[in-house]
Amino acid sequence: MEIFTTLLLILIVFVLGSSIGSFLNVVVYRLPAGLSVLWPPSRCPKCLHQLRLSENVPVFGWLWLRGRCAHCHSRISQRYPIVEATVGTLFLLVFWRWGASLETIGYWAFFSWLLALSLIDLDTMTLPNVLTRSGLILGLVFQTAKGFLPTFNLGIGINHLVLTGIIGAVVGIWLFDIIALLGSLAFGQTAMGAGDSKLAAMMGAWLGWQYLLLAGFIACAVGAVVGGGAIALGRYSRRQVMPFGPFLALGAVLTAFWGEAIVSTYLQLFFPTLGL
Ligand SMILES: [Zn+2]
Repeated sequence: MEIFTTLLLILIVFVLGSSIGSFLNVVVYRLPAGLSVLWPPSRCPKCLHQLRLSENVPVFGWLWLRGRCAHCHSRISQRYPIVEATVGTLFLLVFWRWGASLETIGYWAFFSWLLALSLIDLDTMTLPNVLTRSGLILGLVFQTAKGFLPTFNLGIGINHLVLTGIIGAVVGIWLFDIIALLGSLAFGQTAMGAGDSKLAAMMGAWLGWQYLLLAGFIACAVGAVVGGGAIALGRYSRRQVMPFGPFLALGAVLTAFWGEAIVSTYLQLFFPTLGL
C-alpha cells in the first residue's frame, strides 16, 4: 500500500508540474507578442485548430499526435513536450527535497518564473518587466510567509526574513550593474541588459543576497564556458550577444537546491581552520 501511495503522489506532482509547463509554453509564446495568456485556449499556430482536451494532455498529447497537428498535420515544436516534462521533473525534485511544505510551493513558483523568463530571453533577448516585477513581489511574499510559519521561526523573526529578501533584491540590481560595467570595460560592449539586473533583483528577493552572489558566480562561470565553447565551435560570433537570463536562472536553481552544500564544501576546502 505504501508503494502505491508513493507512486500516486509522484504521478500527481508530475501531472501538476507538466500542466504548469504546458501553461508556461503558452506564456512564453504569447506574452512577448502582447497576446492574452488566458484566451483563446491552446490552438495550432498554423491552422488555429483548437486543441481537444486529449490533444492538450502534457507530454502525452504531443507523443499521441506524433508531433503533428491533428487537423493540418503541420509540425508542432518538440520544445513543448520537453518543457512540460522538464517542469514535471523539476516539481518532483522540489517535492522530494522539501516535502509537503511552504518551501515546495514557493520553489515551484520561483522555478516556473525562471523557466518562462529563460525561454523568453532565448527567443527574444528580452526579460519582460511584467514577469521580473511579479516574480520579485512573489519572492518578498515568500519571505514574509516563511516568517509567519512557526517551523521557520527559530529565533529568526519575520522582519529579518523580509529584510533578507529586500536586501537581496537591492544587491541584485547593484551587482549586475557592476558586472555590466566591468563587462563593457573588458569587452567594449555591454555584457548585460537592464532586464538581467531586474532578474537578479528578483532572484535576490527569493534567495537572499548571499546565495544571490553564489548564483551570479555560477551563472558567470557556466556562461563563460558555454559562451567560449560556442564561439570556439563557430556557433556564435564574438560580437553576438548571448542571452544571460538562462544562465542566471540555472545558477538560481542550483543554488536553491545545493547552495548550503556548495558553501560549506567551499569553506571546508579553503578555510579548514574555521572548523565548520
Ligand atoms: Zn494545425
